[in-house]
Amino acid sequence: MSETVKIIVVGAGAAGMLAAGRAADLGAEVVLLEKMRQVGRKIRISGKGRCNLTNTLPTGQFIKHFGKDGRFLRQSFARFFSDDLLNFLHSENLPTKVERGGRVFPESDSAVDVARTLEHWVEKQGVEIIRGARVRGLDTHEGRINGVHYDLFSEDGVQGSGGQRGNHQLQANVVMLATGGMSYPSTGSSGDGYKLAQELGHTIIKPRPSLVPLCAPGAPPEGIHRLSLRNIEGSLWIEGKLVRREFGELNFIETGLSGPIILELSRIAVDAIDAGKKLELSIDLKPALDHKKLDARLVRDLANREIKTWRQLLDGLMPRKLVPVAVSVCGVPEETHCSQINGKQRKTLLKWLKDFRFQLNGYGDFKEAIVTKGGVDTSEVNPKTLESKLIPGLYLLGELLNVDADTGGFNMMSAFSTGWVAGESAALPG
Ligand SMILES: Cc1cc2nc3c(=O)[nH]c(=O)nc-3n(C[C@H](O)[C@H](O)[C@H](O)COP(=O)(O)OP(=O)(O)OC[C@H]3O[C@@H](n4cnc5c(N)ncnc54)[C@H](O)[C@@H]3O)c2cc1C
Repeated sequence: MSETVKIIVVGAGAAGMLAAGRAADLGAEVVLLEKMRQVGRKIRISGKGRCNLTNTLPTGQFIKHFGKDGRFLRQSFARFFSDDLLNFLHSENLPTKVERGGRVFPESDSAVDVARTLEHWVEKQGVEIIRGARVRGLDTHEGRINGVHYDLFSEDGVQGSGGQRGNHQLQANVVMLATGGMSYPSTGSSGDGYKLAQELGHTIIKPRPSLVPLCAPGAPPEGIHRLSLRNIEGSLWIEGKLVRREFGELNFIETGLSGPIILELSRIAVDAIDAGKKLELSIDLKPALDHKKLDARLVRDLANREIKTWRQLLDGLMPRKLVPVAVSVCGVPEETHCSQINGKQRKTLLKWLKDFRFQLNGYGDFKEAIVTKGGVDTSEVNPKTLESKLIPGLYLLGELLNVDADTGGFNMMSAFSTGWVAGESAALPG
């Protein structure tokens, strides 16, 4: 069975919902196809359930968080940026608040509220949402997009009988691909869009996990599980060269290292690991004190009559779980009296506190990655409209594109902005 609609949006995430709602708001007839039974699954789990919507940084600084590929977003941000997003959300009765580092969250601290607000708004604009509809192929006619094939899943998630190609068809003169990346595939973003875009001739820059935990031999150190280190500095060294420093929190997890510092460093580390380079992470447990000041503190502590044993001294310097590691590194039994500690042992502790080092040799998979690096080559997409330069009528938006950023609300904003601009461009061509 075939019917004609004007715009089909594939994927009801942040990008797809904004594209669909904006286009419908401008008078287009829009159908939104979502493979999952529920829309906005990734939004619901974002920001640890709080959804870091965007960031208040000015455009120039904002774009720097994407690296060099961020240039592509400049025109989208010029048309729909963080203040526009917040005005829009406020007008839909979703108040927001700004936290440390300009990170913006819903006032309710509920990512579910964000997803519900968007879903409600999309429906209010008259968009027809078809849930459980997985697009299998994009159709073209004389080089122009003219529709999609999709499978329908029944209520219990069982796939329809359409096979590879999809047993349902919809026609349209515009198709917007907003299928996201490959990270957290349980939310529905399992990389379908790469194949769909590639089939129509688009180049896909190899998708890799990003903002992802890293693996290191010896991490976590024996006996340490789920230890969080706060206010520390992590430095990433590649082939003996310092490439990036991050201050904040690091977590030891079962499989290695995670937490905000590690996620940020992973944006560089993943490609370097793939390239077979030698990577090291140096943790400075006392970044507020330089070597001289920290040594003076150790000298003072050792002379302090109230600190009797090496163990007591270490307890005052680090979380309890880390003490056995320091004991082992320094080779000094914990019951040793402070008066017996010599200069060499003190210097060993000092060096370790400033440079607790791990070799990095792997990273988590897409199931653990906050975003996907890689995707549709942006040189094949018009940055002003998000329309494909290869297939008229095809639009490519959101995380599907080869743009990704640090944590801080930047990734979500890129999806919102490209979604809004694509919706507007398609509904108001020319
Ligand atoms: C755990 C986690 C926390 C995060 N927290 C934040 C945060 O706080 N702030 C931030 O800025 N970023 C955050 N991100 C990243 C951010 O969520 C994404 O970059 C953003 O949501 C991408 O939006 P999108 O619309 O492009 O794709 P998605 O949100 O991935 O949406 C794509 C949609 O397309 C659907 N789809 C896929 N294939 C098909 C198909 N064949 N047919 C039909 N539908 C299909 C999917 O089911 C999905 O609903 C987080 C990511 C994760 C995984």
